[in-house]
Amino acid sequence: MPNSSSSSVLRFAPSPNGRLHLGHAYSALYTWNAAKLLGGTALLRIEDIDAERSKPDFVTAIFDDLHWLGLDWPQPVMQQSDRLDAYAEAGNVLRDENLLYPCFCSRSDIAASAEGSDPDGAPLYPGTCRHLDRGEQIERLERGDPVQFRLDTERAMDRVGMLTFSVVGPLVTDRPQIRHARPERWGDVVLQRKGTPTSYHLSVVVDDAAQAITHVTRGRDMEAATDIHALLQMLLGLPSPIYNFHKLILDDEGKKLAKSKGSETLTDLRAKGWTPDDVRRAVGL
Ligand code: GLU
Repeated sequence: MPNSSSSSVLRFAPSPNGRLHLGHAYSALYTWNAAKLLGGTALLRIEDIDAERSKPDFVTAIFDDLHWLGLDWPQPVMQQSDRLDAYAEAGNVLRDENLLYPCFCSRSDIAASAEGSDPDGAPLYPGTCRHLDRGEQIERLERGDPVQFRLDTERAMDRVGMLTFSVVGPLVTDRPQIRHARPERWGDVVLQRKGTPTSYHLSVVVDDAAQAITHVTRGRDMEAATDIHALLQMLLGLPSPIYNFHKLILDDEGKKLAKSKGSETLTDLRAKGWTPDDVRRAVGL
């Protein structure tokens, strides 16, 4: 059976911009269970490229909550804020291939000109700045206009031809199935911003490769974004892990738990006297 050897490496990759809730607990426990089934290792990675929202206290709380759940992981823990050079280097590969272009559109420009929405329901960027001439690009960059660098997704797809990735599940030891990727439904995604040489999409593929991740276990809400990851892996010559999309933990209204909605955190539940077994039961494990 492919990839069910002791070389399997999985990861749980939370962003320290709030405290963990039951959704994270499920994802973490699920990942450690899957690693066990595969006879492999589960790593922890801290995804803290958002310098404004990430806080060291939340990193400490993540370690604490996961240890409380009974989980352990190899050291050192990769922290994305330490890896900006690696992301800049990957960005340069795309730039040298003429696959990144500067975009000067504001959020409201995009909302006003969007052509439909992306799989997450956000306005779909219509490619306004894709055809700016070189002179204008240089002038605006030199002037210091706020800029984001976008992937020319259509050009990138022309380079790679047919794009697929492997999905396994619900049982991670099953035989993987081939899935067709359609990154064009995301339009030209932002991969770098002024002052930040990366985005979630770029960091995640660079780090999954750097950590030799063989299986990415993530929530179903991240299924569509995997199309972009498959594309970036091809463009950067990185291996593509096997993907497994797990269920989401929903609140009483059937909505996904979220830090931004103030969903009850593991810290709250611990204060109420919950045990790790209560958490396991609550998430159906
Ligand atoms: N850091 C992301 C989050 O907290 C998840 C990363 C991933 O699974 O690729 O939502």
